[in-house]
Amino acid sequence: MRIAAFLPELLRSLFKKPNTVDYPFKKLAVPEGFRGTPHLDPDMCIVCRACERDCPAEAIEITAVNEAEKRFRMVIHNDRCIHCGQCVDSCPTVPKAMRIDSLFEIADDSRHKMKEDWVYVRAVIKPKAPAPAPAGESPNA
Ligand code: SF4
Ligand code: SF4
Repeated sequence: MRIAAFLPELLRSLFKKPNTVDYPFKKLAVPEGFRGTPHLDPDMCIVCRACERDCPAEAIEITAVNEAEKRFRMVIHNDRCIHCGQCVDSCPTVPKAMRIDSLFEIADDSRHKMKEDWVYVRAVIKPKAPAPAPAGESPNA
């Protein structure tokens, strides 16, 4: 009988742990470097628009709310995001104003609910302090 050919495998499987997890009740840790959901740290954003320019999915939208007050709005359309991480790579600030976390359960019943937005005042990067002059030298020499 053909069933006899499957019997050893069947018996082995009875005593093996399952290869899958009981998601969503149990979750596996995501691997290091996993690209989940992009987020803005508005305190660091200088509104250079590099993230908006380089996003291949056109998922980032930056608009001026009040130019005089240097107030801007950034929207990330998570329904369009392909989690490539380019916005983080393009962001020039240190530390990065754009980050990507490990969140991946962001599905919703409406694409409009997947938007994240921030209204904020453009950050000002303070100039770096001049490097100290070598010992024995006047800084104005
Ligand atoms: S992760 Fe990629 S697709 Fe998503 S917002 Fe950033 S650049 Fe755009
Ligand atoms: S998040 Fe970074 S790349 Fe995007 S506008 Fe702000 S400073 Fe520029």
